[in-house]
Amino acid sequence: MSTATETPDLDGAFPRLTDSQIAVFAARGERRPVQAADVLFRAGEPVGHFFVVLAGLVAIIDGAGPDEGVVRVHGPGRFLGEIGLLEGQAAVFLAAQSPHVYLVVQGEDLSKDMSRYLVDRIESDPRIEVLLNTEVRAAEGDKAIASVVVEDNRTGEQRTLPVGALFVFIGAKPGTEWLAGTLALDDRGAVLTGHAAADSGRARHWRHLAREPYVLETSRPGVFAAGDVRSGSIKRVASAVGEGSMSVRLVHEYLRETGASADR
Ligand SMILES: Cc1cc2nc3c(=O)[nH]c(=O)nc-3n(C[C@H](O)[C@H](O)[C@H](O)COP(=O)(O)OP(=O)(O)OC[C@H]3O[C@@H](n4cnc5c(N)ncnc54)[C@H](O)[C@@H]3O)c2cc1C
Repeated sequence: MSTATETPDLDGAFPRLTDSQIAVFAARGERRPVQAADVLFRAGEPVGHFFVVLAGLVAIIDGAGPDEGVVRVHGPGRFLGEIGLLEGQAAVFLAAQSPHVYLVVQGEDLSKDMSRYLVDRIESDPRIEVLLNTEVRAAEGDKAIASVVVEDNRTGEQRTLPVGALFVFIGAKPGTEWLAGTLALDDRGAVLTGHAAADSGRARHWRHLAREPYVLETSRPGVFAAGDVRSGSIKRVASAVGEGSMSVRLVHEYLRETGASADR
């Protein structure tokens, strides 16, 4: 094929990959030397593999009918195969430039606070390495994160993980220690409201009132809680915003009931 010239890929069916894209495939595929007249694949074969031309030229030949002839010629960098592969599964490979994920868990058991189906998916994914009893101690890097130092919280042993990104999942624990002597909280520190507040040990404030707490009202009449901090909340932005607007309405209700002015 050395005398042939490459055909432009006018319809995009045989895209030319970048060096970094080829490197991703190279890490998972195999290099295969071919000789002139070797056949890489035939029309109608089951799809499941593909080729990337690294050197030389590869011809697509139309073998149907009596006039067999070269339809296209492709050079280095060209993707040869079912284009759907490049858009589907292969695109996942291309996107996963960092195919290893560390899941750092402070506790000793992944399933304690996580749904079983999610635990199963994580444990069956070879790209995810779960580090239990582990805490992040430092993020290192110049302009971007290059590594993260983690520590085993039982032994104090430290380890440096070569990572390019760090996703911090925080925000699940309410910062309500300062409220503990004032409002009724549940065993996780979230503020009790509505019936739960009325039933709590701090319900004495309600004894002289002829009504139950409003749905977002706490163990203290006229004090409301909305969003994540509230015991039993949905933990979603939309519900937090909704509860916020409900609280405003309930505050007005409380002020009307007590005869106080909303301007105070
Ligand atoms: C990692 C993560 C991912 C999430 N992803 C999604 C998602 O994809 N979709 C979704 O709908 N929800 C998501 N959520 C949940 C969502 O963020 C919360 O439900 C929502 O932010 C709750 O709003 P909030 O106003 O109740 O609380 P927050 O957003 O936590 O706001 C409370 C504010 O009060 C401040 N504060 C705390 N204590 C005091 C104090 N003593 N004095 C003054 N200010 C104080 C805090 O600094 C904070 O700014 C996610 C939550 C986390 C943690």
